[in-house]
Amino acid sequence: MTVIRVTKEFKFEMAHALTNYDGKCKYIHGHSYVLNITVAGQPNCQQNNPKLGMVIDFGDLKKIVNDNIIERFDHSLVLSKIAKLADNLKHEYQKVEIVDYQPTCENLVIHFTEILQPLLPQNIVLHHLRLNETATSYAEWFANDN
Ligand SMILES: [Zn+2]
Repeated sequence: MTVIRVTKEFKFEMAHALTNYDGKCKYIHGHSYVLNITVAGQPNCQQNNPKLGMVIDFGDLKKIVNDNIIERFDHSLVLSKIAKLADNLKHEYQKVEIVDYQPTCENLVIHFTEILQPLLPQNIVLHHLRLNETATSYAEWFANDN
């Protein structure tokens, strides 16, 4: 059988600040992120299966990603736990994600990969994940590199 990759794109708005960074991203600001998730597998070939011909139902992938990443991070402020006011901001604004890493595009990709991998069906592998922070800047994780 042939292995096929399928990709779904997600968009969300998120603020962050890079604590101790030496550029403009040290300030709290937002981005319109675009997340592309590519999984690989063999199209279902069971004639009576409602998912015949599919690697994964796009709707199933959408639900996994929406429930575990988009709902959590969309319209949130993501700060490293080393940010001094992080706890106060979370108390004041609620949707503040305090993470144990610097919330760069690269580290967000690693975090999203760690969230998704255990949630995918057994017959599907996460092939790569691409997170655009701007129209011209993105970070990618590839299974083959790791
Ligand atoms: Zn930024």
